[in-house]
Amino acid sequence: MKKLQAITGMKDLVPSESPVWQYLEKTVADLLQTYGYREIRFPILEQTELFARGIGDGTDIVEKEMYTFSDRNGDSLTLRPEGTASCVRACEEHQLLYNRGNLVQKLWYNGPMFRHEKPQKGRLRQFHQIGVEAYGLPGPDIDAELLLLTARLWKLLGISDKVALHLNSLGMPESRAKHRADLMSYLEARKLDLDEDSLRRLEKNPLRILDSKVAKTQSVVADAPKLIDYLDDESKAHFEGLCSVLDDHGIHYEVNPRLVRGLDYYSKTVFEWITDSLGAQGTICAGGRYDALIEELGGKPTQGIGFAMGLERLVLLLQELDVVPADIFDTLDVYCLVVGNVHKEAVAMVEQIRDTLPALRIQLHCGGGSFKNQMKKADKSGARIALIVGENEAIKQQVTIKYLREDKEQETINQSELNRFLA
Ligand code: ATP
Ligand code: MG
Repeated sequence: MKKLQAITGMKDLVPSESPVWQYLEKTVADLLQTYGYREIRFPILEQTELFARGIGDGTDIVEKEMYTFSDRNGDSLTLRPEGTASCVRACEEHQLLYNRGNLVQKLWYNGPMFRHEKPQKGRLRQFHQIGVEAYGLPGPDIDAELLLLTARLWKLLGISDKVALHLNSLGMPESRAKHRADLMSYLEARKLDLDEDSLRRLEKNPLRILDSKVAKTQSVVADAPKLIDYLDDESKAHFEGLCSVLDDHGIHYEVNPRLVRGLDYYSKTVFEWITDSLGAQGTICAGGRYDALIEELGGKPTQGIGFAMGLERLVLLLQELDVVPADIFDTLDVYCLVVGNVHKEAVAMVEQIRDTLPALRIQLHCGGGSFKNQMKKADKSGARIALIVGENEAIKQQVTIKYLREDKEQETINQSELNRFLA
């Protein structure tokens, strides 16, 4: 029979890997809560139209990466390729933006995203993002907060030295139109040096050519007209406002004219945090301002800004830089052996410990077996101590304590003293 395997580009997370993920997710979630962001969860499946409108034609995602299918009712559904569109949809649906004066929302989400791309290191078909979105805030203060927050996160994770902030401003649609015209005539004149994908984008979405990954196109683009030179006054002031906060806090950034989000509803700030420690998949966090998206999806005009970080890439980076704290792999404090016909007594003792010391991580041996066999499991479990309940101990209401990681004699104590001992 054919062996069943996970789908290409979709990975299992085995128990030896989960502590790093839990550590990363908890570090991010705790930090976001301290900045006043609240978690939102939305379904993994949405109507295809949401992403077609919310991400836009002419993007790689909508053109060739979505997992789209008809369900049993014949409705076209899509596995979410990102979170922003769903987040906006959910907020609209629950009137989180305009109900009872809820004009401002600061939200975050965590979960799997699906894109049919070529799997490679740091690029999967099911991958995971933590995303952050803020609605109803027009000024650069929120742009700055998001960047200060991410910079603080890199510090907490110990990767600050290895990530660089790239920043750009897309201006407003009007200032972009003038740039677009100049960009098109610049690229038209150099058509022969462009790759096929870029040629196709020339009419539809020339801005996207700027972030092409093809070498010969990149060299054409290097001297192309830069959006930042076309900024309207409002966008210019916004960008300067943001930069001055970053300067105040010693956050280094590089203004990168090739950084774009090629959609009409993006405006002003766009940014990416990039590392050169991961090879080609170096962007660990990307985002920007999308003041026109909410209206595009049928809501009242509301400003939006957000970013998403790729958890697979962050985990790879933590491992690559060897900054994963060693103690996160200690997942057990105590392993309790049950030797002989004393299961009931052992359960009673362990349950009593759980009542008194709810945070203690204690595993009760199941499945019987010899003392030697159980001791092997205790050693492998990573626990610091083993508690041994045997028939002698059970009769005398005692328990034997064996130190698994220290060179200390074992001792037998009364069960009544156990809580104090463990605490
Ligand atoms: P890329 O240029 O690498 O394809 P993107 O612009 O498509 O990235 P975004 O849509 O901005 O990516 O997603 C935000 C972040 O999510 C990325 O910076 C990256 O860290 C992560 N990410 C995106 N696609 C994948 C993927 N297929 N596998 C793993 N992580 C991903
Ligand atoms: Mg992509």
